[in-house]
Amino acid sequence: MKGKFSSKVLEAWFSPAVLLMSRLTYVSKFAVATALFAVPLILVVINETVEHFHKIELLERKLIAVQRLDDIQKVSRHIAVIRNNRARTLLHPEPSIDSDNDKHKTAVLEALDVLEGRPSIVRNNLIKLAISNLAMAVVSGRRNGGTEGDSIYSVFSGANDLVVQTHRLGMLIVSEAGLLNDDDVLSLNIASFLMTELQLPLESFGKIESFGAYFLEKGYLDSQSVLVFSSIFTQLDASYLVMSQNLSSIFERFKAANQTGVIDISLLEVISQLQGFSEDMIILDPDLEISDAEYRVECQRLLESMYKFQDQLIEYLQYRYQARINNLKIDQWQRALSIGVLVFGAMYLFMGIFYSVEHSLLQLISAAERVSSGDLDTKVEIKTRDELYQLARVFEDMRIQLKARDQALFDLAITDGLTGLFNRKYFNDCINIGLKNSSRSNSELTLVIIDIDFFKNLNDTYGHQIGDTCLIEMGKILTAVLARETDLAFRYGGEEFAVILPNMSSKECIGMVRKIWQAIRESEVIVGVEAISFTASLGVASSDLIGSYDVFSIIQAADKALYIAKDKGRDCYVVAGDINESLIENSK
Ligand code: GH3
Ligand code: MG
Ligand code: MG
Repeated sequence: MKGKFSSKVLEAWFSPAVLLMSRLTYVSKFAVATALFAVPLILVVINETVEHFHKIELLERKLIAVQRLDDIQKVSRHIAVIRNNRARTLLHPEPSIDSDNDKHKTAVLEALDVLEGRPSIVRNNLIKLAISNLAMAVVSGRRNGGTEGDSIYSVFSGANDLVVQTHRLGMLIVSEAGLLNDDDVLSLNIASFLMTELQLPLESFGKIESFGAYFLEKGYLDSQSVLVFSSIFTQLDASYLVMSQNLSSIFERFKAANQTGVIDISLLEVISQLQGFSEDMIILDPDLEISDAEYRVECQRLLESMYKFQDQLIEYLQYRYQARINNLKIDQWQRALSIGVLVFGAMYLFMGIFYSVEHSLLQLISAAERVSSGDLDTKVEIKTRDELYQLARVFEDMRIQLKARDQALFDLAITDGLTGLFNRKYFNDCINIGLKNSSRSNSELTLVIIDIDFFKNLNDTYGHQIGDTCLIEMGKILTAVLARETDLAFRYGGEEFAVILPNMSSKECIGMVRKIWQAIRESEVIVGVEAISFTASLGVASSDLIGSYDVFSIIQAADKALYIAKDKGRDCYVVAGDINESLIENSK
């Protein structure tokens, strides 16, 4: 009850859709169903693919930014030398330092030129402006440490501006590519470490190198210098602490990513020495025993370690972005492949559904058309085993029953009710067809018309019922005598019978005619204790003797022959020769 109710509610709910769909052909219904499922699916797939492409594109931009960062590092290292050289020339202006500075300036300008020409930079005006500003600052900067009146601080801060400007350029490139906004924590940590945590100690250490060498060369430290040093060391202390903390977190991530081999840890140990070294040499040793040259060499050694460390991180960052891009690309192919397989499989099965339904429907339609046009003989063949198959089976049962009923009706229509022989109506059809076939195949056909003798008397003597029994007996005799399937016996009317013998000429038929004549003579109908026998007269007409396949002619000839047989005294057969001139054979 409940089920019925809910199905009715559902039916009512969906009735507008049912109304809409019921007007469509099955092909259209399938097309609509395909479109309804395929369109959203395609939209989702397109959206996903576009997002995926976008992700790859973002990572590629980041990778390029890291490569540019590599360019920037090269520039910044030249600039650090330029800065140091400027400080050096303050005490001892030397042409060799000037020429070294020129060399580095050229290298910087060349590197900036290359950077400006990189495809990722060409279209970014802000970065291009920063590059040309830096190039200008490098070119216009004082050639040496300045005049004698200039203090180390003013010369140095001018030179250090170049370092800061270079770093800003790097930051611009990095933030433009979104390098400091990444969902991969290790990539993000390394990038931010490179741009901030590592940058500060590098800058501080650069200052320590320049100032330290300057004062060592000068031979003493005044109170202002001690103050400057102290503030730089404080800066270095703070930045070194932050750097170490971040480094250890990066190392944890390296370990988690199984990438501990990427960075040479011993380089870090060297970096940790740099702070202590400089402090020892300058602040804690008031005699300033170490020479400025030795100090520079040691600082350079430590700086190189830091640079190497920086290079390793940049290299690893590039590797990591490249690996992530490759993974995404592989992922994309896999997705494309699996979506392809899925769509193909779905379409394949879908077409299977479509063709199976279409096949069954077409078979059923053509079967129904055949039946309606009167063909009850062809079976309905359906390959599927679904509801349509059930329908086809019911239809097939219906066809078989219709066919049986049709056959029964036909049999009834062509059978004589009393004798069970074919009736006069069917005789007309058969004689027509038989003569046509004979004429076509150039064979002969014989027609025999049989009339029971004195039947009226028989009826009058024994009654109509006995008369009927005799007629039934005639039916049995004729059926028994005719051997070939093609020989047919009919009740022609009243006590008259007809026999059609295809493929039989006048000569060949005599045996059969005699057999019939004899069988009638020999038959008996038992009435109580009395055995009644009767005779018949036979008129025979063969197509070869009458020289025609015309229906009217052959019936007329057989009738005439029968008339002659009656006239001759009955109980005999007469073969018609010509319509005009009868050839009569007395059987007695
Ligand atoms: P003939 O030898 O010249 O053929 O004489 P006949 O008496 O056989 O011929 P007639 O044409 O005078 O009579 C035929 C009779 O056959 C008349 C009719 O009562 C009888 N008859 C016709 N149909 C039936 C039938 O279905 N049953 C019975 N019992 N008699 C029939
Ligand atoms: Mg008669
Ligand atoms: Mg008769």
